[in-house]
Amino acid sequence: MAGLACAELLVEQGHEVQLFDKGRSPGGRMSSRRMETPAGIAIFDHGAQYFTARDPDFASAVNRWNAQGVVARWPDARNDAWVGVPAMNAIPRQMARSLNVTSGAHVRGIARGADGWHLACGDGNAGPFDALVIALPAEQAAPLLGLYCLDMARIAVGVPSTPCWVAMLTFAEPVAGPPVIHGQGIIVWAARNNAKPGRAGPEAWTIHATPEWTRAHLEETPQFVAGELSGAFLAASGTDRQPLAAIAHRWRFALSGRAGRDALWDSTSRLGVCGDWLIGPRVEAAWLSGRHLARMILSENASSLCDQAMARSSGMA
Ligand SMILES: Cc1cc2nc3c(=O)[nH]c(=O)nc-3n(C[C@H](O)[C@H](O)[C@H](O)COP(=O)(O)OP(=O)(O)OC[C@H]3O[C@@H](n4cnc5c(N)ncnc54)[C@H](O)[C@@H]3O)c2cc1C
Repeated sequence: MAGLACAELLVEQGHEVQLFDKGRSPGGRMSSRRMETPAGIAIFDHGAQYFTARDPDFASAVNRWNAQGVVARWPDARNDAWVGVPAMNAIPRQMARSLNVTSGAHVRGIARGADGWHLACGDGNAGPFDALVIALPAEQAAPLLGLYCLDMARIAVGVPSTPCWVAMLTFAEPVAGPPVIHGQGIIVWAARNNAKPGRAGPEAWTIHATPEWTRAHLEETPQFVAGELSGAFLAASGTDRQPLAAIAHRWRFALSGRAGRDALWDSTSRLGVCGDWLIGPRVEAAWLSGRHLARMILSENASSLCDQAMARSSGMA
């Protein structure tokens, strides 16, 4: 979301932007997953379950998506909750439609030459680019930043994320009870995903483990985790129905910390950073951070962290 939001504004202002994402399709932590079951195809939002829009600019973007039919309100979660329709990834997909995105492109290294930025990407290279934006979770951004701007890398290292194991269960018939379960034992949140607006398909539940349980079982297999979270869900919902299928996904960097900044931009090296972790662990924060960075790049007036650091070390500050 942060990278897409940044690119959208830069493109609107006439810049050429190329995005590289290691995922199979755009979405990151707003991804959705399809599972074939004997009862049909189940669809899960296995990252963000819903989002809210408090900032007026973000609320305008959400209203545009609403008019395009890619979001809807989901009052079962809370009165001000929104979800993507027919799945959470509808929003990043819609944004990516008008952008130049290369999916399945794992960036393994970055290098700055006399002609600009180059990426070691998949089996090849890309570049030169006259500016580079890193829109990754803090832990994944830090090693790339470390080579070019220690101050930015230090900020990223200081903002650790909270992990989350997520189980996805399907059932042949509806599980009785409310569509959302909060805080029951090792379950921090569970939601009937087929009851979200615009969804169809068989009974499909997404179950998030607590941070404590996730940390204690971080290196377990998905099979083990799916079994444990299924058992906890059956107990919490009071059902004796067994799931048709159960899989699990580990988000190592699920919920970000807060760096207390909007975005980072170094005008000397033309290196920028955006992502939820600059502002807070929410979809809205990721969007805002991306837009802030785009404005910094466009204005070129932003103070440069690396410039300041270099000035300090040479006694010029
Ligand atoms: C389980 C869970 C529940 C959540 N619940 C909510 C919620 O209820 N409400 C809410 O507002 N938010 C929620 N969030 C948080 C929300 O999803 C994030 O804040 C937001 O999506 C972060 O967007 P981002 O662009 O900053 O990062 P990401 O979505 O993580 O995007 C980073 C992108 O970088 C790509 N990438 C990583 N490394 C590389 C590399 N080396 N090369 C190329 N590409 C790379 C990834 O594929 C990804 O697409 C939840 C998240 C999780 C995981």
